Amino acid sequence: MSATTMLDSAAEFDVRDYLRAEMMPHFLCPGCGHGIALRALLWAVHELAIDKDRLAVVSGIGCAGRLSAYIDASTFHVTHGRPIAYATGLALARPDLHVIVITGDGDCLAIGGNHLIHACRRNLKLTCLMLNNEVYGMTGGQVSPTTSETRVTSTTPLGNSEPHFNACALAAAAGAGFVGREVTHHVPKLKELIKAGLAHPGFAFVEVMTDCTEIFGRKNEMGSSAEMVLRQKSELRPSAYRDTVDMPFAAKDLPTGILARNDRPEYGEAYRRAAVAIKSAADNPAAGRKSRQ
Ligand code: SF4
Repeated sequence: MSATTMLDSAAEFDVRDYLRAEMMPHFLCPGCGHGIALRALLWAVHELAIDKDRLAVVSGIGCAGRLSAYIDASTFHVTHGRPIAYATGLALARPDLHVIVITGDGDCLAIGGNHLIHACRRNLKLTCLMLNNEVYGMTGGQVSPTTSETRVTSTTPLGNSEPHFNACALAAAAGAGFVGREVTHHVPKLKELIKAGLAHPGFAFVEVMTDCTEIFGRKNEMGSSAEMVLRQKSELRPSAYRDTVDMPFAAKDLPTGILARNDRPEYGEAYRRAAVAIKSAADNPAAGRKSRQ
C-alpha cells in the first residue's frame, strides 16, 4: 500500500483528491447529472478507504464513458459497449483490484447488452455503475434502450414508440448478486448505495437515474436542470420502471435502494481454482490420470 495513494477515510471528503486536475475543465454540459454521479462514486471510494493504487475504472463510449478520464486512478477508456468485457479480464487477472465499470444506458444495454447479461450470470466481483439518462447524449441524442415511450429524440422526432428496458429487472433476472437504483437528487443515498455495491463480493449493478439536460431535457421541454432533478422520482420516470414482477417495489414511486440480492458463489474464485487444477494436471499428467481412476 502506498502512503501517497491511500487517503484517510476519516478526513473530510474533498473530491479534488480523487480527480486529475490536469484534465480540467471537464467537458460536461452545465447541469448534467453525470458530475453528481461521479462525485457520489468518489465519495463512496473515499469512505471505503479504497487505495487509489488498487482502484481500476473501466468505461465505454459516451458522456458517461468519458468520466473515467477525470479519476485519479488506473483508468481505461475502451470501445463502445465493451467496458464490462475489458473489466472482466482485468478482474480475473487481478483479483487484488477494485474494478469499477462506468457506462451509460446505450453503452450498457444496447451494444453492450450481452456483456451485461453474462456478467450478471457469472457473478464475477465487479461494480457496474450504469448512468441512465434515457439517451445517447454525446453522439447526437439518439433513442436508447431506456428512452421512455413518447419521448422525442433525434431518431424519434415524433416520439419514441418502443417499450424500454427496466435495467434493474433485467440484471436481477440474469442473476446479478446485487442490484440497486438511486437518483442523483439524493446524493448521500446514492453514495451509500454505491458503497454497498462496492462492498458486495459478487457482481453489483447500480443504476443511477441522471439527467441529460442539454440534449434530452431541452428537446423534451423538461425545464431547467434543477427542475429535472427535482422531478426525478415523479412522472419523469414512467410506470415501466415500476411494474416489475418479483421485486418488492412500491407501486406508486420509482423504486430505489437495494432492489435485489443474491448471495451465490463469486465466479473469480471458481475460475482460479479450476485454473490451478488444470495447470497441476498439465504439470503432472500421471497424477491426473490416477485421480480420475
Ligand atoms: S450531452 Fe447530455 S449527457 Fe452529455 S454532457 Fe451534455 S447534458 Fe450531459
